[in-house]
Amino acid sequence: MIPDGTLMHSRSAHRSLLVVGSVALDDIDGPFGFHRDLLGGSASFIARAASYFTRNVSIVGVVGDDFPQRHLDELTALGVNTSGVERKAGETFHWTGRYAPDLATRTTLETRLGVFAEFQPKIGEASRDAQLVLLGNIDPDLQLDVLTQVRAPVLVAADTMNLWIDIKRPALEKMLAKVHTLMVNDEEARQLAGEHNLRRAAAHILKLGPTSVIIKRGDAGALLFHGGGAFAAPAMPLADVKDPTGAGDSFAGGLMGYLAYAGDLSPSTIRTAMIMGSVMGSFAVEQFSVDGLRDLTRERIQQRFDELAELAHFERARL
Ligand code: AMP
Repeated sequence: MIPDGTLMHSRSAHRSLLVVGSVALDDIDGPFGFHRDLLGGSASFIARAASYFTRNVSIVGVVGDDFPQRHLDELTALGVNTSGVERKAGETFHWTGRYAPDLATRTTLETRLGVFAEFQPKIGEASRDAQLVLLGNIDPDLQLDVLTQVRAPVLVAADTMNLWIDIKRPALEKMLAKVHTLMVNDEEARQLAGEHNLRRAAAHILKLGPTSVIIKRGDAGALLFHGGGAFAAPAMPLADVKDPTGAGDSFAGGLMGYLAYAGDLSPSTIRTAMIMGSVMGSFAVEQFSVDGLRDLTRERIQQRFDELAELAHFERARL
């Protein structure tokens, strides 16, 4: 994931992060009951996770007139610039999903696009200079459109999903040729590459353009593949998991937020950022909606980071 050009090494000011994605109301069914109208959407999880690392996060999205203003006010209070979230007449993007009793598989029961159907991301003047850009899971044509609006980001990461792989592959491939990093889950990586083996799937994706690919594997952790090799971030083994929704987005927010905080893209910083992604994903799944990301402190984040570092620490064998 080392793109051309590196961030400055000064830690005096955090690098800016622009997030474009969905802002949603979710209905979630699963072993812990049915929960209605929860705050969801990729941008909601990403921005909240990233806000613990940098005060320089802005989000671009759209909500309808049914969207509670308090959700945006909360993000603003966390220092997130929400001026790029448009409010349009109509219904907010609404996603309904059901988890199996083991929480490992989920089914989309309903997707109501509402105002998201006409979403045209408009990047404000200040955000066009963002150094880090995270393109959440939206139509690849819109992701491409965002790339024409930003000026000179040093790192662009993009997410996608099976829907776009199915119906928009040409636009998706065009987008992939223009981003540094693709972040997908294992099934999406397999589908995109037409290859079951993840190492081979990653090699295939890298040929489409990105310099690195991150494959998220739920409670099996995440893998980073790049030209120079691979890195594995474990997932925290948790005793209580309530709602996996947003885990991948929180991972992405933790990773990109940490990179904004650290101010460089060295291989070792990127490894640390992968672990920070795993830490933020682990907080997200312990509660519904963004509740697991609420009221965290730097101390709690640091503590879980240290636990994960300890979990994966081992001495090299000397044979
Ligand atoms: P994740 O669990 O990280 O894959 O993200 C879940 C979030 O993605 C939910 O809060 C949904 O509101 C949102 N979502 C589901 N389907 C879509 C879609 N087609 N486009 C954009 N966002 C979606």
